[in-house]
Amino acid sequence: MNYNLTSKLPDVGTTIFTVMSQLALQNDAVNLGQGFPDFMMSEELVELVDEAMKRGDNQYVHMNGLPLLRERIAEKVARLYATTINPDTDITITPGGTYAIYTALTTILQPGDEVIIFEPAYDSYIPNVVINGATPVLVPLSFPDYSIPWQEVRKRINSRTRMIMLNTPHNPTGSVLSATDIEELRSIVTGTNILILSDEVYEHLIFDGLDHQSILRFPDLLERSFVCFSFGKTYHCTGWKLGYCISAPDLMKDFRKVHQFNCFSCHTPSQVGIANYLSNETAYLALGAIMQKKRDYFGELMKATPFKPLPSYGSYFQCYSYAGLTNENDRELAIRITKEYKVASIPVSVFYQNGNDNNVLRFCFAKKEQTLSDAVERLSRIRF
Ligand code: PMP
Ligand code: GLN
Repeated sequence: MNYNLTSKLPDVGTTIFTVMSQLALQNDAVNLGQGFPDFMMSEELVELVDEAMKRGDNQYVHMNGLPLLRERIAEKVARLYATTINPDTDITITPGGTYAIYTALTTILQPGDEVIIFEPAYDSYIPNVVINGATPVLVPLSFPDYSIPWQEVRKRINSRTRMIMLNTPHNPTGSVLSATDIEELRSIVTGTNILILSDEVYEHLIFDGLDHQSILRFPDLLERSFVCFSFGKTYHCTGWKLGYCISAPDLMKDFRKVHQFNCFSCHTPSQVGIANYLSNETAYLALGAIMQKKRDYFGELMKATPFKPLPSYGSYFQCYSYAGLTNENDRELAIRITKEYKVASIPVSVFYQNGNDNNVLRFCFAKKEQTLSDAVERLSRIRF
């Protein structure tokens, strides 16, 4: 049939996460590709949600999110980042971090606007900008440390620049922003009307004693920012698809106009359960150490393979270089390893619009030790 369709995303295929997870399933491979934990989440939190459902907390909550949950988030932000957030005007609960990012971009962007995006970039960012008629301005992170080349950013700023998108800890590379990066950012945006989108879904997954440089710490930056979070990452329940966005009241007012006609309100029992669980500080404060242990366990085992690690200071991920080992591109290699050695990973070139291939694969270490050791045992058999 001729639908006379004009695709809004003509250049977009199926996300690599689905592609590699499907390939892993078909090949009975250990899946270190898509980022999700394979260990059980907190039973206490499951029970809190279960109790909420049984008690009858099953109808719509306020479109901005359960008031108690927003209050608890504001308390957490005050404790962690010493910033006062108004739960009525500054926080909206969303069905996941991805949705929060999409909604923020849709709220702000007009055709012709430019958005600075660093590559490798999480796969939803560029399509989210394009679908809103705006133009992504791509700045490659320096390789191999994946730091932001601020001089380059300065060169790319002009009167059309509407937003800079940040992600710390960073997916796919595990790099994190430092206090110096925040200073650079501040010196670029101060006195302009450039907004910031800060994707902080891995806020607690930060290692080696480093501090998470949340935009929430800096009121002068927060007043021009949308800061996006995911309960899926914090509580090992990526399938719940629940998160939130924090912003300044005037920005949040418009964010909510978009949100109310797209999602309106999120899953009620999960919001009740998480609101009651948020007082358990250990549940999130211990996360960095738990995940660092997994990174180190995986890293030790990987020494038995020819892959060379690139540093990971946060997130679920560690990148490995195979430069010099084979001429295969990273996509071909990731597919071959999934099929022949039964371990799925993610080729990092997919996070570059121009397919820039540094011969790097991303592995997710948010897994049980057994899963990691099974995977590495298979990877150690690889012959190039
Ligand atoms: N941003 C980044 C960088 C991510 O890795 C993820 C994880 N999936 C998200 C956003 C979205 O999280 P959610 O599953 O809550 O939509
Ligand atoms: N954020 C996860 C990753 O990077 C996957 C989420 C998704 O599949 N969209 O692997």
